Amino acid sequence: MKMDGETEQLHVVLFPFMAHGHMIPTLDMARLFAARGVKTTLITTPLNAPTFTTAIQKGKNTSRPPLINIQVFRFPAQEAGLPQGCENLEQALGPGVMDQFFKASAMLKEQLEQFLDKTRPDCLMAGMIFTWATDSASKFNIPRLVFHGTCYFSLCVGEILRLHQPYKNVSSDQEPVNTFLLPSLPHQIHMTRLQLSEELWSNKETDYKKRSSKVKESELESFGVIVNSFYELEPDYADFFKKDLGRRAWHIGPVSLYNRSNQEKAQRGKTSSIDQHECLKWLNSKKPDSVIYICFGSTIHLIPSQIHQVLMALEATGQEFIWVVRNEDDLGGFEQKMTGKGLIIRGWAPQMLILEHEAIGAFVTHCGWNSTLEGIAAGLPMVTWPMFAEQFYNEKLVTDILKIGIPVGAKKWTTVPSIEDVIKQNAIEKALREIMEGDAAEERRCRSKEFKNMAWKALEEGGSSYSDLSALIHELRGLSTKNHN
Ligand code: UDP
Repeated sequence: MKMDGETEQLHVVLFPFMAHGHMIPTLDMARLFAARGVKTTLITTPLNAPTFTTAIQKGKNTSRPPLINIQVFRFPAQEAGLPQGCENLEQALGPGVMDQFFKASAMLKEQLEQFLDKTRPDCLMAGMIFTWATDSASKFNIPRLVFHGTCYFSLCVGEILRLHQPYKNVSSDQEPVNTFLLPSLPHQIHMTRLQLSEELWSNKETDYKKRSSKVKESELESFGVIVNSFYELEPDYADFFKKDLGRRAWHIGPVSLYNRSNQEKAQRGKTSSIDQHECLKWLNSKKPDSVIYICFGSTIHLIPSQIHQVLMALEATGQEFIWVVRNEDDLGGFEQKMTGKGLIIRGWAPQMLILEHEAIGAFVTHCGWNSTLEGIAAGLPMVTWPMFAEQFYNEKLVTDILKIGIPVGAKKWTTVPSIEDVIKQNAIEKALREIMEGDAAEERRCRSKEFKNMAWKALEEGGSSYSDLSALIHELRGLSTKNHN
């Protein structure tokens, strides 16, 4: 029960899935809510807690004191058969391990219910994978919001695939590159089976399919969906999702833009492997729009032969670049050879700080939604290089609809790439040249900058994202008052 005097302060609990692509934007959201005077609590597990505590601690120096609490739940890794210390999706991408990771995540239900019972917040926003959270919240009469971590466009594509199964229209499994049309969408979008997880289109009843239908059920029963996007970016799909697919949804992004100080921007996710001042000094020495930034998000590891093709392409174009690689990646002396031309960051890059620097001219991205939106918010044209999850959908938005991207030519959805999936030097080189040189590149750059302006406007008072967040808070306050009377 709330105590007297606390009744007016809305309390929103945010429970993101334990993956950087979900935790990072959720912390940004927590800051957004807190800036509107909403008390927020972030739920996480012991080994993921530093992602939040460090950022909040550092953020304390800024002029906006956050109203954010952290609640830590024990993660039952061993009970689910996971090695001790495996608490984040990035350690669980191997075959079989992912299912155990989902199993462990499902075991958090009891702790969540105890917490909700004790604190009785006004709203629970839980990651889509916590499919049971809608029920848990409803036990205590608490509205549950779903966070998918992607855009309206991809939510619509996912739903159209589920409802119409258009991949059944291609002639045979032997010809997986045949395209099919996604029916009913505002644009003519074609895809291939290869761009989808085989678990989706195969006739087998897979865990993936079971999980996906549970995600949908719990979404349909929830209070609505919170989307990290802005209306002007994808108006047709924001409308389609709400009107044609009948969902309640609020867009409040790009949430990354709420990080204003360099300190906040450099503190997102893990600790940076490069000193932010060193990184900025390097960028300051470069001309505007001259450097390509290459990063594949928080989970992807390129195989050695793929790394080799990227190395050769970068060398051949002579383009200046920043490339984020894994600590263990062997670049065979390339770093020394490219000194001055390129900056290799081993581990974690202060991505937002880099993307927003005027020296960056293009972004080679795996099309994770956070990276994609961060690129859009920084006004950058992109080379799209999707690999799995909904990255192939996001690529379509960037290349076919927004027309600010060039596909590198990735064809196959896979979490474990093999030698046949390697994108060759020529294709990479061609995409790098096309994104940086010529009149079409210039046009693309102008269009990208227009989206950047729209993104900033959306967050300003009266802007579309600002207003949607106001509407959501207003609605939650209304419910809260009703529940307490
Ligand atoms: N990121 C970062 N530095 C890195 C790699 C990733 O700051 O070296 C951040 C990036 O800015 C984004 C998030 O990690 O906010 C990755 O999310 P995304 O949805 O792009 O991809 P995922 O990691 O979920 O595949």
